[in-house]
Amino acid sequence: MKLYVMGNGIATDMPREALVSSGAPLDPNDVVSIPTTSYLIDHPDGLVLYDTGWPQRKRSPQKWKIHPEEIILNCLAKLGVSPSDIKYVICSHLHLDHAGYLEFFKDSEILVSESEFTNVAKLYMLDQLGPHYVKKDIEEWIRIGLKWRLIGDAGKVVDFLDGIKILSYGSGHAFGMLALLVQLPKTGNIILTSDAIYCQENVGPPIRLPGVVRDPEGCEQIIKNLIQRAQEYNAQLWYGHDMEQFKGLIKFEQGYYE
Ligand SMILES: [Zn+2]
Repeated sequence: MKLYVMGNGIATDMPREALVSSGAPLDPNDVVSIPTTSYLIDHPDGLVLYDTGWPQRKRSPQKWKIHPEEIILNCLAKLGVSPSDIKYVICSHLHLDHAGYLEFFKDSEILVSESEFTNVAKLYMLDQLGPHYVKKDIEEWIRIGLKWRLIGDAGKVVDFLDGIKILSYGSGHAFGMLALLVQLPKTGNIILTSDAIYCQENVGPPIRLPGVVRDPEGCEQIIKNLIQRAQEYNAQLWYGHDMEQFKGLIKFEQGYYE
Protein backbone atom coordinates (compact mmCIF):
# COMPACT_ATOMS: atom_id res chain seq x y z
CA MET A 1 0.00 0.00 0.00
CA LYS A 2 1.31 3.45 -0.93
CA LEU A 3 0.05 6.86 0.22
CA TYR A 4 0.60 9.89 -2.01
CA VAL A 5 0.15 13.46 -0.72
CA MET A 6 -1.20 15.97 -3.26
CA GLY A 7 -1.28 19.72 -2.62
CA ASN A 8 -4.34 21.29 -4.26
CA GLY A 9 -3.53 24.96 -3.84
CA ILE A 10 -2.81 27.46 -1.10
CA ALA A 11 -5.57 29.78 0.09
CA THR A 12 -3.91 33.03 1.11
CA ASP A 13 -6.80 34.75 2.84
CA MET A 14 -7.91 32.56 5.76
CA PRO A 15 -8.68 34.81 8.75
CA ARG A 16 -6.32 33.78 11.57
CA GLU A 17 -9.20 33.77 14.06
CA ALA A 18 -11.23 31.43 11.84
CA LEU A 19 -8.41 28.86 11.98
CA VAL A 20 -7.65 29.08 15.71
CA SER A 21 -9.74 31.29 17.97
CA SER A 22 -8.14 33.48 20.61
CA GLY A 23 -11.50 34.97 21.50
CA ALA A 24 -10.79 38.17 19.56
CA PRO A 25 -13.29 39.35 16.93
CA LEU A 26 -12.74 38.04 13.39
CA ASP A 27 -10.46 40.44 11.52
CA PRO A 28 -10.71 39.94 7.73
CA ASN A 29 -7.36 41.75 7.32
CA ASP A 30 -5.45 39.44 9.68
CA VAL A 31 -5.09 36.43 7.42
CA VAL A 32 -2.85 33.38 7.06
CA SER A 33 -2.10 31.02 4.17
CA ILE A 34 -3.41 27.47 4.37
CA PRO A 35 -2.87 24.45 2.12
CA THR A 36 -5.58 22.20 0.75
CA THR A 37 -4.63 18.56 0.41
CA SER A 38 -5.92 15.32 -1.07
CA TYR A 39 -4.45 11.84 -0.82
CA LEU A 40 -4.20 8.90 -3.19
CA ILE A 41 -3.87 5.42 -1.70
CA ASP A 42 -2.64 2.67 -3.97
CA HIS A 43 -4.25 -0.36 -2.28
CA PRO A 44 -4.23 -3.98 -3.50
CA ASP A 45 -8.05 -3.80 -3.74
CA GLY A 46 -7.96 -0.66 -5.91
CA LEU A 47 -7.11 3.03 -5.92
CA VAL A 48 -8.64 5.09 -3.12
CA LEU A 49 -8.81 8.88 -3.22
CA TYR A 50 -9.38 10.88 -0.03
CA ASP A 51 -10.84 14.28 -1.01
CA THR A 52 -10.68 16.05 -4.35
CA GLY A 53 -9.61 19.62 -3.59
CA TRP A 54 -10.99 22.90 -4.94
CA PRO A 55 -13.78 23.00 -7.54
CA GLN A 56 -13.44 24.33 -11.05
CA ARG A 57 -12.74 28.01 -10.67
CA LYS A 58 -15.62 29.12 -12.85
CA ARG A 59 -18.09 27.55 -10.42
CA SER A 60 -16.47 28.64 -7.19
CA PRO A 61 -17.92 31.69 -5.45
CA GLN A 62 -14.39 32.67 -4.40
CA LYS A 63 -11.34 33.35 -6.53
CA TRP A 64 -8.74 31.01 -5.06
CA LYS A 65 -5.38 31.11 -6.76
CA ILE A 66 -4.70 27.56 -7.83
CA HIS A 67 -1.89 26.71 -10.17
CA PRO A 68 -3.18 24.36 -12.91
CA GLU A 69 -0.67 21.75 -11.76
CA GLU A 70 -2.37 21.69 -8.35
CA ILE A 71 -5.79 20.71 -9.71
CA ILE A 72 -6.54 17.17 -8.58
CA LEU A 73 -7.03 15.85 -12.13
CA ASN A 74 -3.58 17.13 -13.14
CA CYS A 75 -1.94 15.72 -10.00
CA LEU A 76 -3.43 12.31 -10.79
CA ALA A 77 -2.38 12.57 -14.44
CA LYS A 78 1.22 13.11 -13.33
CA LEU A 79 0.94 9.80 -11.49
CA GLY A 80 -0.46 8.16 -14.62
CA VAL A 81 -3.93 7.88 -13.07
CA SER A 82 -7.21 8.94 -14.71
CA PRO A 83 -10.42 9.49 -12.70
CA SER A 84 -11.93 6.28 -14.12
CA ASP A 85 -9.06 4.32 -12.48
CA ILE A 86 -10.20 5.38 -9.01
CA LYS A 87 -12.34 2.70 -7.35
CA TYR A 88 -13.33 4.65 -4.24
CA VAL A 89 -13.46 8.35 -3.45
CA ILE A 90 -13.80 9.00 0.27
CA CYS A 91 -15.08 12.52 0.67
CA SER A 92 -14.24 13.86 4.15
CA HIS A 93 -17.15 16.31 3.85
CA LEU A 94 -18.77 18.28 1.05
CA HIS A 95 -17.19 21.71 1.60
CA LEU A 96 -15.98 23.33 -1.62
CA ASP A 97 -12.26 22.89 -0.93
CA HIS A 98 -12.65 19.13 -0.38
CA ALA A 99 -15.28 18.04 -2.90
CA GLY A 100 -14.22 19.97 -6.02
CA TYR A 101 -14.04 18.00 -9.26
CA LEU A 102 -16.14 15.21 -7.72
CA GLU A 103 -18.20 15.14 -10.90
CA PHE A 104 -15.22 13.69 -12.76
CA PHE A 105 -15.38 10.52 -10.64
CA LYS A 106 -18.58 9.12 -12.11
CA ASP A 107 -17.18 5.57 -12.28
CA SER A 108 -16.00 5.56 -8.65
CA GLU A 109 -18.01 4.72 -5.59
CA ILE A 110 -18.17 7.90 -3.51
CA LEU A 111 -18.30 7.51 0.25
CA VAL A 112 -19.59 10.39 2.34
CA SER A 113 -21.03 10.90 5.82
CA GLU A 114 -24.77 10.22 5.77
CA SER A 115 -25.40 13.18 8.03
CA GLU A 116 -23.38 15.52 5.79
CA PHE A 117 -25.09 14.22 2.65
CA THR A 118 -28.68 14.48 3.91
CA ASN A 119 -28.23 17.91 5.45
CA VAL A 120 -26.53 19.35 2.38
CA ALA A 121 -29.31 17.86 0.21
CA LYS A 122 -31.82 19.61 2.47
CA LEU A 123 -30.02 22.95 2.23
CA TYR A 124 -29.86 22.57 -1.54
CA MET A 125 -33.61 21.99 -1.77
CA LEU A 126 -34.26 24.98 0.48
CA ASP A 127 -31.78 27.10 -1.53
CA GLN A 128 -29.89 27.86 1.69
CA LEU A 129 -26.48 26.36 0.89
CA GLY A 130 -24.39 29.28 2.17
CA PRO A 131 -20.76 29.91 1.24
CA HIS A 132 -19.24 26.47 1.93
CA TYR A 133 -21.13 24.41 -0.65
CA VAL A 134 -21.23 25.07 -4.40
CA LYS A 135 -24.73 24.88 -5.89
CA LYS A 136 -23.57 24.30 -9.45
CA ASP A 137 -21.32 21.44 -8.33
CA ILE A 138 -24.23 19.75 -6.55
CA GLU A 139 -26.40 20.17 -9.66
CA GLU A 140 -23.66 18.50 -11.68
CA TRP A 141 -23.43 15.60 -9.20
CA ILE A 142 -27.19 15.08 -9.52
CA ARG A 143 -27.15 15.37 -13.32
CA ILE A 144 -24.39 12.78 -13.64
CA GLY A 145 -25.84 10.47 -11.00
CA LEU A 146 -22.77 9.83 -8.87
CA LYS A 147 -22.60 6.46 -7.12
CA TRP A 148 -22.87 7.43 -3.46
CA ARG A 149 -22.30 5.19 -0.45
CA LEU A 150 -23.50 6.82 2.74
CA ILE A 151 -21.57 6.11 5.95
CA GLY A 152 -23.59 6.41 9.16
CA ASP A 153 -22.36 5.22 12.57
CA ALA A 154 -21.12 8.61 13.81
CA GLY A 155 -18.43 8.10 16.47
CA LYS A 156 -17.60 4.62 15.19
CA VAL A 157 -14.55 3.13 13.52
CA VAL A 158 -15.68 1.44 10.31
CA ASP A 159 -13.52 -1.26 8.70
CA PHE A 160 -13.19 -0.32 5.04
CA LEU A 161 -10.28 -2.14 3.40
CA ASP A 162 -7.38 -4.09 4.85
CA GLY A 163 -5.27 -1.38 6.56
CA ILE A 164 -7.82 1.40 6.01
CA LYS A 165 -10.49 2.31 8.54
CA ILE A 166 -13.04 5.12 8.33
CA LEU A 167 -13.61 7.24 11.45
CA SER A 168 -17.14 8.54 11.06
CA TYR A 169 -18.17 11.71 12.90
CA GLY A 170 -21.38 13.71 13.23
CA SER A 171 -22.01 17.41 13.69
CA GLY A 172 -18.94 19.59 14.33
CA HIS A 173 -17.00 21.44 11.65
CA ALA A 174 -19.61 20.27 9.14
CA PHE A 175 -22.81 18.20 9.50
CA GLY A 176 -20.75 15.02 9.33
CA MET A 177 -17.16 14.09 8.62
CA LEU A 178 -15.17 11.04 7.56
CA ALA A 179 -11.59 10.86 8.83
CA LEU A 180 -9.32 8.07 7.64
CA LEU A 181 -6.95 5.76 9.50
CA VAL A 182 -4.28 4.43 7.15
CA GLN A 183 -2.08 1.64 8.54
CA LEU A 184 1.19 1.64 6.62
CA PRO A 185 3.74 -1.13 7.30
CA LYS A 186 6.85 1.08 7.13
CA THR A 187 5.59 4.56 8.06
CA GLY A 188 3.18 3.39 10.74
CA ASN A 189 -0.38 4.56 11.33
CA ILE A 190 -1.67 7.91 10.13
CA ILE A 191 -5.05 9.50 10.77
CA LEU A 192 -6.06 11.94 8.04
CA THR A 193 -8.34 14.32 9.95
CA SER A 194 -9.38 16.66 7.15
CA ASP A 195 -11.23 19.63 8.68
CA ALA A 196 -12.17 17.76 11.86
CA ILE A 197 -8.87 19.34 12.97
CA TYR A 198 -7.49 22.26 10.96
CA CYS A 199 -4.03 22.42 12.52
CA GLN A 200 -1.80 21.51 15.47
CA GLU A 201 -2.86 24.61 17.43
CA ASN A 202 -6.42 23.24 17.58
CA VAL A 203 -5.12 20.16 19.41
CA GLY A 204 -3.09 22.10 21.97
CA PRO A 205 -3.14 21.22 24.77
CA PRO A 206 -5.36 22.92 25.59
CA ILE A 207 -7.76 22.34 22.71
CA ARG A 208 -8.41 25.60 20.85
CA LEU A 209 -11.40 25.59 18.52
CA PRO A 210 -11.53 27.41 15.18
CA GLY A 211 -13.28 30.79 15.36
CA VAL A 212 -15.86 29.85 12.75
CA VAL A 213 -17.44 26.49 13.42
CA ARG A 214 -20.90 25.02 12.82
CA ASP A 215 -21.24 23.22 16.15
CA PRO A 216 -18.55 24.16 18.74
CA GLU A 217 -19.51 21.45 21.25
CA GLY A 218 -19.52 18.73 18.59
CA CYS A 219 -16.27 20.07 17.16
CA GLU A 220 -14.53 19.82 20.54
CA GLN A 221 -15.83 16.28 21.14
CA ILE A 222 -14.56 15.19 17.72
CA ILE A 223 -11.10 16.70 18.36
CA LYS A 224 -10.98 14.87 21.73
CA ASN A 225 -12.04 11.63 20.09
CA LEU A 226 -9.40 11.96 17.36
CA ILE A 227 -6.70 12.56 19.99
CA GLN A 228 -7.90 9.38 21.76
CA ARG A 229 -7.92 7.39 18.53
CA ALA A 230 -4.40 8.60 17.73
CA GLN A 231 -3.23 7.25 21.11
CA GLU A 232 -5.22 4.03 20.75
CA TYR A 233 -3.74 3.29 17.30
CA ASN A 234 -0.34 4.93 17.94
CA ALA A 235 -1.07 7.11 14.91
CA GLN A 236 0.18 10.46 13.65
CA LEU A 237 -2.52 13.05 13.07
CA TRP A 238 -2.30 14.75 9.68
CA TYR A 239 -4.46 17.87 9.81
CA GLY A 240 -6.75 19.45 7.22
CA HIS A 241 -5.06 22.83 6.77
CA ASP A 242 -1.77 22.95 8.70
CA MET A 243 0.81 24.89 6.69
CA GLU A 244 3.85 23.89 8.78
CA GLN A 245 2.92 20.21 8.75
CA PHE A 246 2.12 20.30 5.03
CA LYS A 247 5.55 21.76 4.24
CA GLY A 248 7.21 18.81 5.97
CA LEU A 249 5.30 16.08 4.10
CA ILE A 250 6.72 14.21 1.12
CA LYS A 251 4.63 15.34 -1.89
CA PHE A 252 3.61 12.98 -4.66
CA GLU A 253 6.15 14.51 -7.06
CA GLN A 254 8.95 13.37 -4.75
CA GLY A 255 7.70 10.06 -3.45
CA TYR A 256 5.17 8.32 -1.24
CA TYR A 257 4.61 6.80 2.18
CA GLU A 258 4.44 3.02 2.49
ZN1 LIG B 1 -14.46 22.22 5.71
